[in-house]
Amino acid sequence: MHSMEAGKPLIKFNHCKRSIYSFGVPRCCPLCQEALGLAELANAPVSACSPFTNGHQEKCCFLLRPTQGTFLREYDGKSDLHVGITNTNGVVYNYDGRGVQRDRTGWEQSLAVPLLQPGMLGLQDQWDRYLEDFSAHGAWLPHRYEEDHHNCYSYTLTFINCILATEGKEQLNKSEFTEKYVVPRTRLASKYIVLYRAIEEHGFYAIEHGGPEAGSP
Ligand SMILES: [Zn+2]
Repeated sequence: MHSMEAGKPLIKFNHCKRSIYSFGVPRCCPLCQEALGLAELANAPVSACSPFTNGHQEKCCFLLRPTQGTFLREYDGKSDLHVGITNTNGVVYNYDGRGVQRDRTGWEQSLAVPLLQPGMLGLQDQWDRYLEDFSAHGAWLPHRYEEDHHNCYSYTLTFINCILATEGKEQLNKSEFTEKYVVPRTRLASKYIVLYRAIEEHGFYAIEHGGPEAGSP
């Protein structure tokens, strides 16, 4: 199910030897103006999956979103990101200068990384209590917050390391964490955002073998 917060769904079809993305199937090809007919029906459009999800519907996940605004409208690839952890009811725990926040709204357009392996049901049962106990620790009091060194990333990474320890796995340092949990998702998001904004501007987006191309319909 797509919610509007996660953006309009995109579809992808092939014409003019290109992959063409748009918000719906147009009557004719935006490149050659040929009516799309039986040949294209045989070559049915596929929907391009949005990397964004409503974080309040995700259990036991690591979430990312821009500190200001949303990915689809404001994110420029360098914007500051804010991160958090969901409990089993979609409440997003996150740490900022006011201490640990428990958000019930505001994470409707997020990137989500599941933190529990399938089958870890025992851990899922304990999750909310772990997260609550962890958040009550003095390390996360408001006055301990430091923008560069003791921030939302420190909070989520420390929690993820507690979970990894419980699962008997190795701890992650800050750069491993960024490589594993942050970079792959933001890279995917950036590609999708380029596509999405081009379609908003031009009505479609076409990709050929040599590279991307956007134009007026
Ligand atoms: Zn065409």
